[in-house]
Amino acid sequence: MTISANLQSGTPVSRATKSSAGGKKPDGACWNCGAETRAAHFCPACGRIQPLAADADYFAFFGLPRKLQLDSAELERQFLLLSWKLHPDNFVRASDCERELSLDRSSRLNDASRILQNPLSRVEYLLEREGVRREGAAKQQAPPELLAEVFELNESLDEMRSVRADNLADGEEAAALRDRLVEAQGDFQEKLAEIDAELSAASGDWDAALEFESGNGSNAAAPARRAELLARLNEILNRRSYVRNLVNTVQGELEQSELEQR
Ligand SMILES: [Zn+2]
Repeated sequence: MTISANLQSGTPVSRATKSSAGGKKPDGACWNCGAETRAAHFCPACGRIQPLAADADYFAFFGLPRKLQLDSAELERQFLLLSWKLHPDNFVRASDCERELSLDRSSRLNDASRILQNPLSRVEYLLEREGVRREGAAKQQAPPELLAEVFELNESLDEMRSVRADNLADGEEAAALRDRLVEAQGDFQEKLAEIDAELSAASGDWDAALEFESGNGSNAAAPARRAELLARLNEILNRRSYVRNLVNTVQGELEQSELEQR
């Protein structure tokens, strides 16, 4: 028997198409013994490795709901356990299909763990899977409440660049500019911490909404609530990436001018 289910699905797959995954076998049944596998990596009855459901994402990979507040230690524990169980060394005498499954699964396990362990990439990944954000397509716009500060900062950066272009990095003007940049750097780092707190609060709201849905069954208001929370998370991420870039730019400029000072 061949295992024909999609091993890797790069494109988002809607829930509705999930049952078409295996083709010949009933959805969720073991390819070897026909037992119900409940989307586990291994059949609970015969222990053989199973193909992933077509819509399985990194959360499903670890048997988790799409929640954002994860127990990092528990995730690490699951990761170690799975990397041991899925290791290709365990499949040297297995069929070609099973060996392929184990190879594919081991490499996806590393990706899944890397993405989910980082709270930021976790949010980004959720937004991608929910179709709210495309990879690498973050909008770069100054947050309105920071416009004045950003304008001022850009002026200081321009001045610093022209002072450096004139080889005056060790002069008084450069020293004053450096002070100003260090101060701005501190302000924006504070802003970054505030944004992270916002992100964490919004992540909590998302989890609460999922919990509410699973406790009360889906209701008419649920999709709108989800969409609203996802849009908020997306907006916070965009703002964060903008401020993060600013902080990095200032950092680079400061380092450069300090180098030239000597
Ligand atoms: Zn089985």
